[in-house]
Amino acid sequence: MSKPLTGRVAVITGASSGIGEATAEHLAGLGASVAVLARRADRLSDLVALIEKDGGTALAIAADVTDVAAVREAAGQVAAAFGAADLLFNNAGVMLPAPIDELATDQWQQQIDLNITGLMNVIGAFVPQLVQAGRERGVADLINTSSIGAQNPYPNFAVYCATKAYVTQLSKQMRADLGPKNVRVAAIEPGFTTTELQSHVTNAGISDWLEGAKTQLEWLTPGDIAATVGFIASLPRRVNMQQITVMPTGQA
Ligand code: NDP
Repeated sequence: MSKPLTGRVAVITGASSGIGEATAEHLAGLGASVAVLARRADRLSDLVALIEKDGGTALAIAADVTDVAAVREAAGQVAAAFGAADLLFNNAGVMLPAPIDELATDQWQQQIDLNITGLMNVIGAFVPQLVQAGRERGVADLINTSSIGAQNPYPNFAVYCATKAYVTQLSKQMRADLGPKNVRVAAIEPGFTTTELQSHVTNAGISDWLEGAKTQLEWLTPGDIAATVGFIASLPRRVNMQQITVMPTGQA
């Protein structure tokens, strides 16, 4: 029996851990050929081996999405290996909360460079392929990872949350450009999800707060978000989920 994403070509950024890794495995299980992007080549090779062992098709591309030339080259590699991408899960991101008066300008810039500029680099490089796929195959998907932080205020997370508000708003705007070209655009806004994201936090007080939150409620798993991506991409082509917030049941 054919799987729902058989014949589709998916690109997943931030695929070396967490949500991206789980989504690559899930989409491959649904029948898509998957190109997995991140900087850690060893993690990507392991992921490709796992997917292939399960009968899937995968390609590892080690690239830094803040490097526009590297992302353009990655887009060429995907097209050469699989043909035009028709599902982009634009997911690489970093969260570095800190009180604003600490003036952690390097960390502000890191978040802006990856969560905004990196995300845009990937969109710019892959939109021509999505549009081509929309024209030739009738449907393509651009799915961006935002955050519940795009909606709700959290003390010390203002810069991160603002980058994610950009992602949600950009997704809404891009739907107007791409919808008429058969490219659906969606933003997924996860709440607390157990991944490596929190391990990069350098502020001890905020790390403790996050660790405390883990003991107070059951966090989402990366697989919960992967299932959401698979759901969005498997819908009939007339249906575009514009924005989905996925929360742990216990998170207010
Ligand atoms: P992880 O830290 O596990 O994953 C982040 C991924 O981004 C890694 O694969 C990392 O790989 C990749 N990455 C980081 N920098 C770059 C770069 N410059 N170029 C290419 N890839 C890069 O965290 P999550 O899985 O949680 O994060 C995925 C997305 O989900 C992020 O956008 C995050 O903001 C969002 N999110 C997460 C939530 C959570 O609670 N976990 C909640 C809401 C949103 P590598 O280091 O190998 O490059």
